[in-house]
Amino acid sequence: MIEQQIKAAIRDIPDFPKPGIIFKDITPILKDHNLCEGIVDAFIEQIKGIKVDAVAGIESRGFLFGLTLANKLGVPFVPVRKAGKLPYTIKQKVYELEYGTATIELHTDAFEPGSHILIHDDLLATGGTVTAASELIQEMGGVVAGYTFVVGLGFLNGKERITPVSDNVIVLAE
Ligand code: 5GP
Repeated sequence: MIEQQIKAAIRDIPDFPKPGIIFKDITPILKDHNLCEGIVDAFIEQIKGIKVDAVAGIESRGFLFGLTLANKLGVPFVPVRKAGKLPYTIKQKVYELEYGTATIELHTDAFEPGSHILIHDDLLATGGTVTAASELIQEMGGVVAGYTFVVGLGFLNGKERITPVSDNVIVLAE
C-alpha cells in the first residue's frame, strides 16, 4: 500500500543532474501530508524491536523524514553533513565517488559512544553514502542499528553493500 503510494508520487526526471541519469524526484511526496505521515509510520512499524538511541539523517533529503522519525521515536536527530557546514568541532570521512571523492562530517558530540544509531536517507543507490556514514559512526564509537530509506534502486545492489554492517535495512519502495 505505502509502496504503491510512494511509487505513484515519485517523478522520474531524465538527464538530471547529468545526461544518462534518471533522477527520482521525491518532492511530490512532500506535498502530500498524509503520505509523509504514512512514510514515518511505516518506518516506525518496521523498526519495532530494534534498539535506536538516535537517528542520523544524511544531508539534505535525509533530513526531511529523519527528523520527524527521530521526533516520533523520542530520540535525538543527528545531521550528517557535507564538508564545511557544521559549526562545532567535527569528525569527517572522505569516500570515493564514481569520479573523485566526497566528504561527510558529524559533530564530535553528536552521540555518546555505544549509542545505537539508525541511519536514514531518502534514497539508496549504490550505498556509498550510507557506507561512509556508517564507517564514520563506528569510528566515533557508535553502533549502526540499521538503515531506513524511502526509495531503493534495487538494480544497483546497494543492499548487498550495507547488510554486512546491519541486517536491518528498511526500504519502503523498490
Ligand atoms: P548512493 O551513495 O547510495 O549511490 O546514493 C544515494 C545518495 O545520493 C542519497 O543521499 C540520495 O539522496 C542521492 N541520490 C542519488 N540518486 C538519487 C535520485 O535519483 N533521487 C534522489 N532523490 N536522490 C538521489
